[in-house]
Amino acid sequence: MSKRIVILGAGESGVGAALLAKQQGYNVFVSDGGLISEKFKSELVQASIFFEEGKHTEEEILLAEEVIKSPGISEQASIVRKIREKNINIISEIEFAFRYKGDSKLIAITGSNGKTTTTALTYHICKHADANCALVGNIGYSFARQIAIEPKSIYVVEVSSFQLDDITSFRPDVAVLTNITEDHLDRYEYKLENYVRSKFRITENQSENDVFIYNLDDQVTMNALSKYPIKSTQAPITMSRELPQGAFLTNAQMHLKWKNEEMRMSIEDFALKGKHNQYNSMAASMAATAIDIRKEKIREALQSFESLEHRMEHVASIKGVDFINDSKATNINSTWFALESMKKPVILILGGVDKGNDYNLLRDLVAEKVKVIVCMGKDNSKINEVFGDIVPIMINTENAVDAVNASFHYAEKGDVVLLSPACASFDLFKNYEDRGKQFKQAVKNL
Ligand code: ADP
Repeated sequence: MSKRIVILGAGESGVGAALLAKQQGYNVFVSDGGLISEKFKSELVQASIFFEEGKHTEEEILLAEEVIKSPGISEQASIVRKIREKNINIISEIEFAFRYKGDSKLIAITGSNGKTTTTALTYHICKHADANCALVGNIGYSFARQIAIEPKSIYVVEVSSFQLDDITSFRPDVAVLTNITEDHLDRYEYKLENYVRSKFRITENQSENDVFIYNLDDQVTMNALSKYPIKSTQAPITMSRELPQGAFLTNAQMHLKWKNEEMRMSIEDFALKGKHNQYNSMAASMAATAIDIRKEKIREALQSFESLEHRMEHVASIKGVDFINDSKATNINSTWFALESMKKPVILILGGVDKGNDYNLLRDLVAEKVKVIVCMGKDNSKINEVFGDIVPIMINTENAVDAVNASFHYAEKGDVVLLSPACASFDLFKNYEDRGKQFKQAVKNL
């Protein structure tokens, strides 16, 4: 009889894993405690994969020889505890997919901020160089689905810490850790060290033939580096000094040094603007260098990349006022980088549901650059308290239309209206995409 594999959670990664497992001849059962979307259900039906929704039937699940767990399901969930009690192996979708990638190269990107941008940019470089490659993880297909449907020679994979929690053999040829700031600590017993350990697992199976790219300027990463034995060849990135190997910035030039070769490029030529994107551009070009993509191709691709929706996305210029949608900025660190990159006076739309934000970290930049704060959230009291004494005009709004209208009312020619909320969106919106879309619609209606 074929081996029984149970998949917990039928989102993109769960369904991708189910399709790949079925293709590989497993006896597959998918169980989702919530409702499965129609699109995914019909895919499962079509592939003759058994599934259930709205429940986890223990008798079915505990028969598994191995379980693939969706990154959204916590270790504390009762079904997960029962699986652990029975000593059934639990793996993540990236671990499962990894087993079937064959000789293909794998670039895996993790970190607290900048994952999607760095992943998309790395893919753009590979694609521009005509490599046979796929972008998987958060944008597009899951890693497993891509392998099931259309295997490629290079996979550029965005991975979350939750997926790294359940790996055993996952070994990227190139691992990128963009940075580490406090996030998702609720899933890590509120201990930063647990979250950091989980991020560093991206290197755990690497050998000296593999490459590890990390940010020398990131204090949390650097504190952790000495604690974990890294066997990989290191290719750090930094803006603070010159390096014998890796990527660094001096006098507005990026230097990429690798195997006795060097490439230089002015940061003025990067399509992506702002300091955080300089880090992302360095990380992506280092990753591409490590898999031998040609310098000219990297240079051209860094110039031609178009920014992603909801991440410092330029929406429109109206009567000399620029509108920027950075709805994806759901924590202080992201908003800090957004503000840092602003060269014009800013009207900042801030607020939503914060996960314990320390707004004081933004005070210096706000004092320097922000003339009006438009709060957009159900409870704006904390923001009013922290910035009331340094920003002359503070407005409270509870929807995107009012926030955009108020911003435009106070804006003068040469100003920027920046939606970079530093908060999650679910008090007023479905998610950050919905918030960004409503913002853009309101701007278009001005
Ligand atoms: P992730 O996928 O890790 O959430 P994104 O690339 O989607 O990251 O960017 C999310 C937000 O974080 C964006 O709004 C952007 O302003 C900010 N950001 C992007 N790159 C970085 C970085 N390297 N450091 C800090 N903040 C960043």
